[in-house]
Amino acid sequence: MSTVGVYSSEEFTERFPLDFGSDMRGSMVTNVNDVVLGVIIAHQLKSGEVCAGSVLWSSFNDKSNPLWRLLSRPGAPITIDPSIQCINCGEGKHGYLHEGVWQTI
Ligand SMILES: [Zn+2]
Repeated sequence: MSTVGVYSSEEFTERFPLDFGSDMRGSMVTNVNDVVLGVIIAHQLKSGEVCAGSVLWSSFNDKSNPLWRLLSRPGAPITIDPSIQCINCGEGKHGYLHEGVWQTI
């Protein structure tokens, strides 16, 4: 993750419509055929800066994929593995997305 700009709270909510809880939000990454390729995960710092990063997988349940694995069914709240850690903003966010909910480690 890295900072991607300063957003108002409204802009942050609009740009990242998925609410994972624990102040973590996101937006899905899709291709031109609306196939979900991954998710952008973001959180907002006290300064208003938004820290965001992409989590990508290439196909559903592809165990040989070196990127994250999508464990949930298409259209269901997402569960991915392994965990996601933010190392750039200093807040040290680290957790899992399980059934669409951020679970801090
Ligand atoms: Zn961060």
